[in-house]
Amino acid sequence: MIQSPRGTRDLLPSEMERRRFYEGILRNTAQRYGFREIQTPIFEEAELFILRSGPNIINELYAFKDKGGRDLALRPEMTAPAIRAFVNNMSNDPKPIKIFYFGQCFRYERPQSGRYREFFQFGAEIIGTATPQTDAEVIATALDMVKALGLKEYKARIGHIGVLRRELAQVGVAAEKMPEILQKLDKKLYEEAWPLMEAAGVGREDADAIFDLTGTVGGNEVLGRISGGESEYLRQVLSYLSAMGIDAPEIDLGVVRGLDYYTGVVFEIEAPALGAEKQICGGGSYTLSELFGGEKVFSTGFAIGFDRVLLALEKEGASCPGRKIDAYIVAASCDVTPKAFEIAGMLRRNGISADIDLADRKMAKAMKHASSIGSRYTVIVGSEDLKNDSVTLRDMTSGEQKTVKISGLLAEIRDH
Ligand code: ATP
Ligand code: MG
Repeated sequence: MIQSPRGTRDLLPSEMERRRFYEGILRNTAQRYGFREIQTPIFEEAELFILRSGPNIINELYAFKDKGGRDLALRPEMTAPAIRAFVNNMSNDPKPIKIFYFGQCFRYERPQSGRYREFFQFGAEIIGTATPQTDAEVIATALDMVKALGLKEYKARIGHIGVLRRELAQVGVAAEKMPEILQKLDKKLYEEAWPLMEAAGVGREDADAIFDLTGTVGGNEVLGRISGGESEYLRQVLSYLSAMGIDAPEIDLGVVRGLDYYTGVVFEIEAPALGAEKQICGGGSYTLSELFGGEKVFSTGFAIGFDRVLLALEKEGASCPGRKIDAYIVAASCDVTPKAFEIAGMLRRNGISADIDLADRKMAKAMKHASSIGSRYTVIVGSEDLKNDSVTLRDMTSGEQKTVKISGLLAEIRDH
């Protein structure tokens, strides 16, 4: 039997209904904040992701050559494609540009709960402004999304990548050595970061001070530990968040992010109930456009791991309204099948979801099918009733049955 490839999933009807419901909430929230949707290709020139994504992403890239010999890759994330699309099509538009996107990404990772090779991200970017207001707007959007989904247990942390970059530069780490070290610090893998730092010329004491810095977490008092403009910048971001009525994220100077293109404020949201794969959102400010042949433009954005927030919601026992069919139509005998289809057509034209027996089933079997698909009503079309232009309407919840005129059927179903 052929199975779906490792790390991928088939999303079946009930799951898809759940996903569309939550996707709708994210979409509405994005629109409420003034973002507009874009869609970019699922595959891109591989170079788009190799230029700046950092060592992690490159190792996990689904890259291939097409028949024309082009080096392509399935997108592992959607920020680089969004910025490429901006450089190609939107660079003259009035700024800032606020866009959002939803779709699948591909990474060759070791599959486990909350980690797939094909997964979905819902993300947003503000392109063209670099102000504390912009960061606050983006963080507010992300936090409001998570809240709107109904997730109860989550934690947001905010930091500034500039702090760590400067500290590393001060102790002698060259720019090209930075991504690999930052990646280890992101995962708090100090044992693995140390040899890389040592090779870059960092002394043990300096390294310890940097490890200590990445472990600095707390409220506003943490800002006192940072020198330079980052402290004031973060203070402003937090003040705008507070003005919007958004709960303050924790300040965490160890927020690094795996992707290599971040330059300023960085933030993460996690759902502790998910255990190891608990990060449900990551974002921050960056510049990418100049790498793709555009002018240097500052942007700020985030991506929510859609599959992971759904897992977290499931763990919290969240439920969402299931889609049900309104009416299932059964012909009591073959001679009235055309009439049954006529009624199905009439109901559907009037916005009622109607399904119909397609297998000439006996009444008992048809009724069983109607209840297995969760239909609200069954409409039984029989020759005796039809003599009076009527059908039998059965309420599948109460089991009550009554004869109704076909002319009144629509109103009868609609009233419920
Ligand atoms: P992680 O540290 O968990 O690998 P990341 O830093 O690689 O995450 P990002 O590149 O920031 O993740 O992607 C944004 C979000 O996408 C993550 O916060 C996470 O929720 C989700 N995500 C990333 N990789 C996967 C995956 N393989 N399967 C499911 N969701 C993922
Ligand atoms: Mg990752």
